[in-house]
Amino acid sequence: MADRLSPGGDTAAGGDTAAGGDKPSGLSTSIDAAIIAVGSELLTPHKTDTNSLFISQVLNDLGIAVACKTIVGDRRAELTSHIAHALDRHRILILTGGLGPTDDDLTREVVAAHLGLPMDEDPAIVAAMERRFAARGWKMPAVNRRQALVPRGATVLANPNGTAPGLWIEHGASVIALLPGPPREMKPMMDGDVRARLAPLAGHVRLHRRLVRVSGRGESAVEEMVQPIYSGWLNQAPPIETTILAGLGQVELHLLLQSSDAVQAAAALEAAVNQLTPVLGPDLVSIDGRELEAVVGDLLRGRGWRVALAESCTGGLATSRLTDVPGSSDYVERSVVAYSNEAKIELLGVDAALVTAHGAVSEPVAAAMASGIRDRARVNVGIGITGIAGPGGGSEHKPVGTVCIAVAGRETRVRSYRFPGGREMVKALSANTAIDMLRRFLIEG
Ligand code: ATP
Repeated sequence: MADRLSPGGDTAAGGDTAAGGDKPSGLSTSIDAAIIAVGSELLTPHKTDTNSLFISQVLNDLGIAVACKTIVGDRRAELTSHIAHALDRHRILILTGGLGPTDDDLTREVVAAHLGLPMDEDPAIVAAMERRFAARGWKMPAVNRRQALVPRGATVLANPNGTAPGLWIEHGASVIALLPGPPREMKPMMDGDVRARLAPLAGHVRLHRRLVRVSGRGESAVEEMVQPIYSGWLNQAPPIETTILAGLGQVELHLLLQSSDAVQAAAALEAAVNQLTPVLGPDLVSIDGRELEAVVGDLLRGRGWRVALAESCTGGLATSRLTDVPGSSDYVERSVVAYSNEAKIELLGVDAALVTAHGAVSEPVAAAMASGIRDRARVNVGIGITGIAGPGGGSEHKPVGTVCIAVAGRETRVRSYRFPGGREMVKALSANTAIDMLRRFLIEG
């Protein structure tokens, strides 16, 4: 280990990545970090470690890659060995949790013991804790005094939202931050004091990103379309790394670039996104990370149009997604969940003969639902969704997953789909596809 802390390099090239030449996944950088979330409750099915997501976000913003993250229970030997391993391989170690007053809160003690640092009681911390308790009319329990123990040489990080202060330790070339477990205490500390202290180590390099959303194609089809383009980005300076993530009915392309020059980074990402635009055509939902429902909202608002929905198998899910967007009352007029045949007939004016002739899950009925709600709501465009979400109700000709979706404006578009998966997935894919059909209707119509 070197004796002195020095800033990381200015470029993504070179630098000491993880020992042994391993490259942390996601992004390469000159310094990297390990995260350890401490707490036995995080190893049960009842509690999820969300702190490390927030910590990763702040580290990535600073251009620091996360090489690994670990969850360790409140066990001394286990925690010691994970701390030793992390410090052996990574320059930065962030621990969260286990700073409380009880016997199973071991983080402070184990870190100090591993580094060979004696602990001294800090009278200022004791006084601050006593004041905090007194403000509520309580006397501080004696056990809380252990939260005032500070490994010699460590800097105390104030915790205005709780009793356990954080700690910042510089030891040889290593930097170790100990943060409280409760997210409302950890987040301001990580985003404030710790971010400010890490920034000089990270140098001027920052992570810049663009999120491109695509719909209507699977992950591999999108990969096939864009791979010839993004493979070239890795050879340019600075390189752009691309990650493709599949979601329900959507694919996300994450473009990541490390640079100390924000203007140049923005221009390089813009040029990259512009290369994708013609290749993706109408499948491109957004180049600025906007969600599908927000894009549709903007398109409707831009035209001064209002939409109404008639949903059967989705039970209101498409409307729920559209109304997740703040301000959606500008363009969502109403929605009807018309689950039964009677509801389709009574509330939407679907001709009973259509239902008898084609079945409730059919293109003619979807189209009639869409035009029915459009006319009754006196809006520019209506959507109709009818399908079989399963697990029962399927037949040879109309198996589970058969869904008919219609968009009715001045003209009506209707399509049938066979969605895979169980009930929840069929509903989610149906809602997504209906919103995407509306988007295509608006950009093409
Ligand atoms: P306290 O002083 O409250 O005891 P602490 O630093 O000892 O703080 P823990 O006791 O480990 O923290 O955790 C307190 C609570 O914070 C947990 O019950 C849990 O709800 C939440 N918490 C802890 N760690 C995490 C984590 N990694 N992700 C999300 N929540 C967490």
